[in-house]
Amino acid sequence: MRKLYKRKRIDKQKGLKIILLFLVFSVSFILIDYEKPKPSKSPSLKQTKNKETRKPVYEYGIQLDSFDVFKKNVENGENISSIWANYNMFFLKDEILKRSKNIFDFEKKLKAANNYTVLSKSDTGRYFIYEKDKLNYIVVDVNNKDSIIVYEGKREVITKHMLSQGIINSSLSEACSEQNISQKLSQELSEIYAWTIDFFKIQKGDRFKVYYENNYIDSCGKLKYIGVGKIWAVEFIHKNQPFYAFYYEQNRNRGEYFDENGMTLRKAFLKAPLNYYRISSRYSKNRKHPVTGQWKGHFGTDYAAPAGTPIMTTANGTIEIASYTKYNGYYVKVKHNSTYSTQYLHMQKIKSDIKKGVYVKQGDIIGYVGSTGLATGPHVCYRFWKNGVQVDPYQQNLPPGDPIDEENRIGFLKYKDKLLEKLTENQM
Ligand SMILES: [Zn+2]
Repeated sequence: MRKLYKRKRIDKQKGLKIILLFLVFSVSFILIDYEKPKPSKSPSLKQTKNKETRKPVYEYGIQLDSFDVFKKNVENGENISSIWANYNMFFLKDEILKRSKNIFDFEKKLKAANNYTVLSKSDTGRYFIYEKDKLNYIVVDVNNKDSIIVYEGKREVITKHMLSQGIINSSLSEACSEQNISQKLSQELSEIYAWTIDFFKIQKGDRFKVYYENNYIDSCGKLKYIGVGKIWAVEFIHKNQPFYAFYYEQNRNRGEYFDENGMTLRKAFLKAPLNYYRISSRYSKNRKHPVTGQWKGHFGTDYAAPAGTPIMTTANGTIEIASYTKYNGYYVKVKHNSTYSTQYLHMQKIKSDIKKGVYVKQGDIIGYVGSTGLATGPHVCYRFWKNGVQVDPYQQNLPPGDPIDEENRIGFLKYKDKLLEKLTENQM
């Protein structure tokens, strides 16, 4: 500790040099990572790290070296008074609460299991940092108890590009866990290929390679994994045929996946009007109604989800009805073309700008899950009309979505070649 105190006396210029050096090192660290997806095994990088062990450690924008650092989680039943009492801050409670009034309500919003950090120096010098989530935090600076400062901060996300691959023995999700690939990635892969590959029918020996991002934050000078970022490119070999997916943003920052020829992997219709759901009842010509008890056809698919979950139109089209009836509750009907229409029932509410005649694009939010009308719990009843008859969308051979715009084709093909290289380099 004595050594660390000394460092504080280094004059400002030297301090600045150290910061610059630190920045140069961090930049080169990120570049090295970009080039080599498995940096932890690279000996040259380890050496760089050893040389760096004395560099100042920053977290939350504060240099940690001269503080005692306590990292804890809020325990069940703990409140801000008991936490601050443990760190000799309780006597400042009223003042801190006053200062944080418009920033964060420590008395009501503290969540069990969230992290907090106390940095302490001598009797009075303190920082209290509460992490609202993985990225956002609140700093209470009580180093000068006569002028307590409370502010919000956000961690920087550090992105690393990764190349991972797996071979399927039984399921995609198992293949991912064997390779220590996040389950989130497995879930996203199955969404990317929702229309292309039936994951219930994948075969032993099917394999994939995926080029994607992992996100990290810097915690006490160490990288801490926080989740999967964007998936840029995938090669999925199914029954010995390659199926490619390349992420490309054509316009309005609205990216989607195309194959190697610029055909979208998406159909003209989404698989479901919700992102996360459970199918609670499928289309059937005969079922017992959960409310009336009558046997009757159920010509929709019910997707159960928490009330308030956004509902999306599954295809481009024009709003034909946005209304309320006793049985349907709040509902919307979208006309896609002369053949297809879709209908969404039992909404908690219709989105305010969704009115008859409004044009909507696939994935636009049109309302929110509820249980208005004849419904037992929050769900959307999704009805799929073809030539005026309600049919089961899962039994239809649906039209494909639009291919890449002609003016973007050449750009896309070049871009795709680069991603293809990323998928084939570092062959294992
Ligand atoms: Zn239904």
